Amino acid sequence: MTSLPIDVPTDLFIAGEWRPATGGGTVAVTDPADGSELARVADARPEDAVAALDAACAAQREWAATAPRERSDLLRAAFEAIMDSAEEMARLMTCEMGKPLAESRAEVTYGAEFLRWFSEEAVRIGGRHGTRPEGGADMVVRPYPVGPCLLITPWNFPLAMATRKLGPALAAGCTTVLKPATLTPLTTLATVRVLEQAGLPRGVVNVVTTTSASAVTKPLMADPRLRKVSFTGSTEVGRILLEQAAPTVLRTSMELGGNAPFLVFDDADLDTTVTAAMQAKFRNIGQACTAANRFLVQRGIADALVERLTAEIDALVVGRGTDEGVTIGPLVDDDAVAKCLELTRDAVDRGATLVRGGEALDGPGHFMQPTLLTDVPADARICAEEVFGPVLPITVFDTEEEAVALANDTEFGLTSYLCTGDMVRARRVVDQLEVGMVGINLGVLSNAAAPFGGVKQSGLGREGGAEGIAEYQSLRYTLTPL
Ligand code: ADP
Repeated sequence: MTSLPIDVPTDLFIAGEWRPATGGGTVAVTDPADGSELARVADARPEDAVAALDAACAAQREWAATAPRERSDLLRAAFEAIMDSAEEMARLMTCEMGKPLAESRAEVTYGAEFLRWFSEEAVRIGGRHGTRPEGGADMVVRPYPVGPCLLITPWNFPLAMATRKLGPALAAGCTTVLKPATLTPLTTLATVRVLEQAGLPRGVVNVVTTTSASAVTKPLMADPRLRKVSFTGSTEVGRILLEQAAPTVLRTSMELGGNAPFLVFDDADLDTTVTAAMQAKFRNIGQACTAANRFLVQRGIADALVERLTAEIDALVVGRGTDEGVTIGPLVDDDAVAKCLELTRDAVDRGATLVRGGEALDGPGHFMQPTLLTDVPADARICAEEVFGPVLPITVFDTEEEAVALANDTEFGLTSYLCTGDMVRARRVVDQLEVGMVGINLGVLSNAAAPFGGVKQSGLGREGGAEGIAEYQSLRYTLTPL
């Protein structure tokens, strides 16, 4: 077994105690760079999840009644503790998820920031009041914690996806059952250990790791005591959870798939565009719902951009994320590699030109060559489906109108990127894009202070920013005669 950079709990965390799964089952967590086993974590059964919800429900009233400053101090202490152990956290993340160490360090900073941001929001919970328009009565609107929440997170950002939900939920006064992804539970477990050590009261956060996500979450989804589900993952699973939410009219936040267009206009600065494009495509080895999935490039700049991107791709270093100089780590599993190969072959079969890459690398580990495709026709599957890997497809357009039409021609609407030197054009295009987020002349836009989320089938609700806490609150209006 590869040794881990920090001691990580591997049991379930229920009602303030670390305990094995009912029946004692465990599941291996492996290193995607070589397939070796890193640890075994508890494999929860449905009854464990119900016990976790019992604990969350038991703790809800008292947690909601804590002073905002108390909740704020807890989140702030957890933020400090994570930053104090940032290097170990980053190494742990790279072990189980594969991303290059520099990117894991960046995720620790970004992920911890949600704890700091929401520690600051916890003491700024407002409301509003006024006089009834007809007079004679006082109207008060006050937010209350929504209640026990189920938080389901994916494997691609194992720290940030957990803190982006835990931060606002705890700040608002909600208790939680957290189900991290089976592929990368260790960083999340280490984060919850930090919260525990910072003084988290019993039952406020409960964690269940499991290989049976559906069987384990189903009884919670059907339980009227659960008041909210916040999910980050595929649109496919999001739809299932939305169906399960209907019978109890459960509050939902859904951060689902993306198919981000990256638009480049002739008037764009080439250096800026290349930097932005490389970040938007290859950060996290392309495994982000915000990753640029389709590059739409105006004809006049296309040849120069392809030449520059080819050189940048040739300079990428594929390897184990902890190795010095590596910029592209392994993909998370073999299915991820298969998907990249499938979408690349489909594009080539339909007439695209393979400029670089296109092959998987020999194992062990799940490595894919950084790939550049040009002349990708609009009917290629990669224009409609998330490739979730290091494949950069380019399609050329002529007019701004055509670019906007192509950009919006998708069921998704999470992120879009736009490179241009003309800010009037930028504003005009932004207004026409059907997305929740736009990056102008840059390739990374996530920030704890911003509302992250999409439109269309990319989801419902927002995470982060002042808006993030509202997802965990319900409003109560009271009217008092004067
Ligand atoms: P990804 O493709 O990023 O793995 P998924 O949507 O498959 O996205 O998974 C995201 C999270 O949802 C993971 O924690 C996974 O275990 C969980 N999950 C997958 N299927 C279900 C399901 N049917 N019900 C509840 N959670 C699920």
